[in-house]
Amino acid sequence: MNRYYAEFGGQFVPETGISALKELEKAFLKIAFQKDFKSELKSLLKDYVGRKTPLYYAKNLSKHYGHDIYLKREDLNHTGAHKINNAIAQALLAKKMGKKKIIAETGAGQHGLATATAAALLGLECEIFMGETDVKRQELNVQKIRLLGAKVNLINTGLKTLKEATTAAIQSWINEIETCFYVIGSAVGPYPYPQIVTHFQSIIGKETKKQLKKIGKKADYIIACVGGGSNAIGMFYEFLNDKTVGLIGVEAAGLGIDTPYHAATLTKGRVGIIHGMKTIVLQDDYGNILPVHSISAGLDYPGVGPIHAYLHKVKRVKYYAINDDECINALKLLCKLEGIIPAIESSHALAYLEKLCPTLKEKSVIVVNLSGRGDKDMHSVLSYKKGEIYG
Ligand SMILES: *Cc1c(COP(=O)(O)O)cnc(C)c1O
Repeated sequence: MNRYYAEFGGQFVPETGISALKELEKAFLKIAFQKDFKSELKSLLKDYVGRKTPLYYAKNLSKHYGHDIYLKREDLNHTGAHKINNAIAQALLAKKMGKKKIIAETGAGQHGLATATAAALLGLECEIFMGETDVKRQELNVQKIRLLGAKVNLINTGLKTLKEATTAAIQSWINEIETCFYVIGSAVGPYPYPQIVTHFQSIIGKETKKQLKKIGKKADYIIACVGGGSNAIGMFYEFLNDKTVGLIGVEAAGLGIDTPYHAATLTKGRVGIIHGMKTIVLQDDYGNILPVHSISAGLDYPGVGPIHAYLHKVKRVKYYAINDDECINALKLLCKLEGIIPAIESSHALAYLEKLCPTLKEKSVIVVNLSGRGDKDMHSVLSYKKGEIYG
């Protein structure tokens, strides 16, 4: 596994963390590729998570835009998003390593929910770190996490969102490093986490490739939203070597990239260090990490996975930013045309259709990764007012 992608990646953690990361690397390479681990995971993904997820031809949306649009239905997974693919795999790895407890950070609550679910299933103790602002935005997920038997640790430092929750989770992990496994929820963090998460999420792209082949289609463009970047890299990974496929990552522009209220890391950030990795970071002139804003709690992150920082640098993936208003319009359009309520995060990817489609000269095949469902977002959608700052 690559430890760095160009200058991005690495391990920027305190001394005590290094040995745990070494142990993790060794365990992952040894266990995750064994036959019994693979078959156990495969059966959990099939019968518990509900994979494979459909690649759905969105007929009405296609008619609306004049191109063939397919949705990869990660929203149909158990717990409502792609997060479970990775959470269940890492929890299984933790169990095989003999760990008794798993911990996780969460923003929108989807990763907390997925991790608490995996912990319940596999009989592991579980603690979730969540910022107080996010706890308020995503109350239903917090209640679900508690009902599943996990403890929720409220974090009230800084902006009280995902960044602070991640910092607290890393700290707690380092304090209990012998018995505890840290289940990271996105393709971020020190090596080998981004690689592990990419490995476990790459099932999305693998399935998509097979499903396209089966119907005799080839994707011209694939679009996914990018917070830390796990659903996007999970979708893109299998297509990276096929240069005929245009890969597009969509970040959150919040109130606009020319305001201080956005989370458009690759569009506006610079090289820096956050949460144990060297990557692109939103920062001020002193190198302090900037506060971020987006209507979507899941994209509200001032860093991005190092593999995306690299793919941005080498221009293999193009990254754009979609603002809150455009996102809500796209969400409503999918509801009306297809009867699917998408997550606010996924709606950023959908919103890019509005920009891309009019520029295409020939009829194209476009796949959008529908990373999650919108049930958790009903409150944010219904109370949305243009230009308002949430959290
Ligand atoms: C968490 C989440 C995201 C953002 O995380 P990535 O790691 O960038 O995929 C996107 N969509 C949904 C539905 C989420 O829950």
